[in-house]
Amino acid sequence: MFALQFNQLDRQAELRINPAQLRDLAQQTDSIILPVHRQQLLTQGDSLLWLNWRELSGTVEDIQDKHLIYLGQVKEADQIKHYFSYRLTKPDYFIQQFNFVSLKGLRELLPLLSESEAFLANVAIGIEHWHNTHQYCGYCGHATYSKLAGFVRQCSNQECDKEHYPRTDAAVICAITYQDKILLGRQAQWPEKLYSVIAGFVEPGESLEQAVAREANEEAGLTVTNIQYFGSQPWPFPQSLMTGFTAEATDPSIELKDDELEHAAWFTRSQINELVNSEQLILPNKYSISRTLIEHWRELSI
Ligand SMILES: [Zn+2]
Repeated sequence: MFALQFNQLDRQAELRINPAQLRDLAQQTDSIILPVHRQQLLTQGDSLLWLNWRELSGTVEDIQDKHLIYLGQVKEADQIKHYFSYRLTKPDYFIQQFNFVSLKGLRELLPLLSESEAFLANVAIGIEHWHNTHQYCGYCGHATYSKLAGFVRQCSNQECDKEHYPRTDAAVICAITYQDKILLGRQAQWPEKLYSVIAGFVEPGESLEQAVAREANEEAGLTVTNIQYFGSQPWPFPQSLMTGFTAEATDPSIELKDDELEHAAWFTRSQINELVNSEQLILPNKYSISRTLIEHWRELSI
C-alpha cells in the first residue's frame, strides 16, 4: 500500500473545545510536539525534531494557544501519547539552540520517516498550511483567529462572524488502460524522463467519476469507461486528497487537447520494464498513489 495510510491516530475531536485541558495534555512529559514552519519541519540530522513541552518552552519564549494544534492521540504498546504541532513564527531560535537542526519539506523527508511519523507530519503541515493561507476572512476581509485546537478559524468582525474550516482540494488520478497497455504522460516542467498517469483537480459541481472522464478527455482526448475506485491518499503538496481510479479507454487515439501534457503514449508491461531498466523512463516515487496505480497494473496477470 502507498504512503500516508497510518490509521492509528485518534483525533479526539471532542477535546478541541477545551483549551485549558489541551494545554494540560500538552504539558504532560510524554506528550509530543512537532514544530512546523511554512510546511517545513525541524529536523536534526535525518530525524524529525519531536519536542516535549519543556523543550518547546525553553526555546519559544511565549507559547501561545493559538499556535498550538492538537493532532490527537496514538496508542503505543498500551500507552497513550498525545501529539501536537506548534506553528513556529521564528524557527531561527531552534536552529541556533539545537545542534544540526534545519528545516526540511515533507517531500524530502518521506523516504526517511516511519509510516506513523510521515502520517503525523503530513497532518501537521497540512493544517499549518491552511492557517498560513486563511489569515483573513474570505467573506469580509477582516483578520481571522484560531480556535478549537487549530481546526477552526473565526472571523474577528462580529458582524460577519463566519467560521472557516480546514480545506482539502479533491483531485483525481487515474490509470487508464487500453487492452494490454497503460497510458503514461509527462508535463514539460517535470524532471526529464518522468512519466505518470493522468491527474487533475475536481471542479465545483462535479463527481469524482466525472472528473476522471473530463481529465482523460482534456489531457489525452480519450473517452473512458469502467471507471473504478482504487483508493485515496492525502497528498500535502500543498493540500490535496488524491482519489485514485482505474478506467479503460474505448479507443486508443491520443490527442493532447489542453497544454497540460507535453507527451503521452501507451506502454506495455515489457516496454516499461525495458525502458525503466535502461533508465530511459522514470516512474513516480514509490510513496505516491500514482506509482501504486502503475505497480498494481504491472502486477496484474496479462
Ligand atoms: Zn468575515
